[in-house]
This record gives sequence, structure tokens and C-alpha cells, in this order.
Amino acid sequence: VTAEAAPITITGTIQHQAWQDRVLPPVEQVRKGLWSIPTPFPNSPLRYVLAYLVETSGGLALVDTGWPSDESWGGLVAGVEQSGHDISEVDAVLVTHGHADHFGLARRVREASGARVALHRLDAEASTNWTSMKQFLASDAEWSRHRGLTDAEISTMRPGTSDKDPDAEMPSGHTAIDVQLEDGDRPMGAGTSLRVIWTPGHTPGHVCFAHEDYDLLLTGDHILPRISPNISPSPAFTEDSLGDYLGSLAAMANLEVDEVLPAHEYRFANLPARVQQLQAHHALRLAEILAVIKSTPGCTTVAVAEGLTWSRTWAQTTGMVRRFAIGETYAHLVHLERKGLISNASRELDAWQVVD
Ligand SMILES: [Zn+2]
Ligand SMILES: [Zn+2]
Repeated sequence: VTAEAAPITITGTIQHQAWQDRVLPPVEQVRKGLWSIPTPFPNSPLRYVLAYLVETSGGLALVDTGWPSDESWGGLVAGVEQSGHDISEVDAVLVTHGHADHFGLARRVREASGARVALHRLDAEASTNWTSMKQFLASDAEWSRHRGLTDAEISTMRPGTSDKDPDAEMPSGHTAIDVQLEDGDRPMGAGTSLRVIWTPGHTPGHVCFAHEDYDLLLTGDHILPRISPNISPSPAFTEDSLGDYLGSLAAMANLEVDEVLPAHEYRFANLPARVQQLQAHHALRLAEILAVIKSTPGCTTVAVAEGLTWSRTWAQTTGMVRRFAIGETYAHLVHLERKGLISNASRELDAWQVVD
């Protein structure tokens, strides 16, 4: 869904060109003592994760790490070297949120450097919800059944996961977290340039980091220049994640920063314009969902998702992409429910209807 709003200004022009050319962008010095380091994100349409190496008066910080694979690790280590530093010098790994593409190499950086690993308390707690992949998949399958998927469909939803060791530890095991972040914290110490801004929504404990000396905002997955971040709650999360997200967005609506440094895609300026675009996207989505429920009362979440416009047809929306689409739809439904606009007759098998 595209919405009419003021355009953003792409400042990461080399990154943008690399995106168009489908290649990994180079390591770039964004400011003195601050580098963006792309790490390969294998088998993902996002292609790479942008980690940031930041010199502060409290030591060397690495914001986000990359996907837990040897290829990503190689990219991270080489990228840090290009900055003139060494991975062993990192003092703190500051993680924007508990997703594996951001957190996944944290433990490995700590092993190589002795760095402390910091994550917001809520994502640190969420990482203890499941002790194994098997347990997570069972919980995810049950959630999917309630939303209207058949067992046959569920079995196609996470291709590849069944070949993995079912007792494997989850990538974001809580044992790797040394520091739990809270809004307003300065994780590199009092008087240092990086400040935590809690931005729940994409995950309950997502944070951005404001770099106050340079007036920059490191946004993780909260705000990206091209795509709207997936708002798809984990099976254990029953709150209004879209409401949280819209609240976090609104809090940034008037934040004038020099440049936005996201964890995917490319750097840009004009944050208020991007906030407006994202708000408009979700407003359109909510209206579209209301219209589907009006025309088919009693529908499941899966049926609502099928009735929406996606970038591909529903038949082409398969595997993890379909799972995310259903999660995203559900987040919008829960938000409409909390606003009193719709209700769900059954959480065993969703049956949505408009409230008169
Ligand atoms: Zn994420
Ligand atoms: Zn991400």
C-alpha cells in the first residue's frame, strides 16, 4: 500500500545504489568515529544487516550484529577491521531488539572481545519464553490454528526448520544478555553520547539509540526507509503490538534529526516524513481490514489476510512470508478490537465481526 506523503531524502546514496544493484554496500564512515558495517543476511529478502561501530567516551560500542552464520560473522569482523578497529576492542554490544538478525552474533562478539551485551528488558525476558526450537514451533502452530490455518498449511509455513535440531537452543538465549536496557539509559556511561529510546511495537523491547553529539538516530527495524517493519506479535504476546508501534511512531513525529541510520536498506533524512508515511500506511490497512470484516462477518484472521492486498497474490505469499502476513493482519485486528471497533467471538477459531 502506498500513501501520499512528503518524500524522504536518501542520504545513504551508495547504500541505495548497492540496493538497486543487489550487492552488499561498502563499509562507510558516517561521521568521525562512527561507521556503518553491512553484514550479509543469507536467504533473506533484506539481504544485509547494517551494524554500526561507534566510538564513545565510554568505549567502543557495536550497535546490532548480524545473522548467526559464519558468512555474517566474516563480514562483521572484516568490516570492523576496515574501520581501523578490531572486533576484540568492542566494549559493548548494544542490540536494538531480540531478532536473530540483530542479536545473533552478540555472544560471538562477547567471546572475541569480552564485550557486555545489552538488550531492552522486555526482549531479554521474551527470549526466555521458549527453551528450544521444538517448543517454539509447537506454540507457533497452536497460535496459527486459532487464527484459521489447517495443520497441512502450518507444515509448509516454516520450511527448513524441521531439518534443524529440534532441541537446539533458541538463537536469542537469555544467557547471552549482561545488561537490561530501559528508556533513557546511557549504556556507555553517564555523559556519553548514546541514549536509549524505547520504541515498542516491532518487538515489545525494541529500542532506538539517539547519538546526541551528531544528532543521529539509529532506528534498528523501528523505522526503515522503504518497507514498513513487520508488526507480527510472537505467539506469547497478547497485547496490542500495533497500538504500541503507532505510539512509538507518534512519539517521533516531531523529532528533527540530522540523519536516520536504520539496520536495513539505507540512511535517510526527513524523519517526520517517514513517520507520516508509516502512519498513513497503517491507517489505510486498518480501513481495508474493517471493510473485509464488514463484508464477511465471522471470518478468521487467515480469511481477513486473504482478502487484503499484498505485494504478491495470496497464492504466491507462501512459507514465512505468509506467516508474517497473518501475524501482521492479526496485529491490526487486535488493535481494532482494543479500539472497540470489532470483536472476536472465539479465540479458539477466530470469528471477527464489526461492533455496531
Ligand atoms: Zn526485527
Ligand atoms: Zn531486522
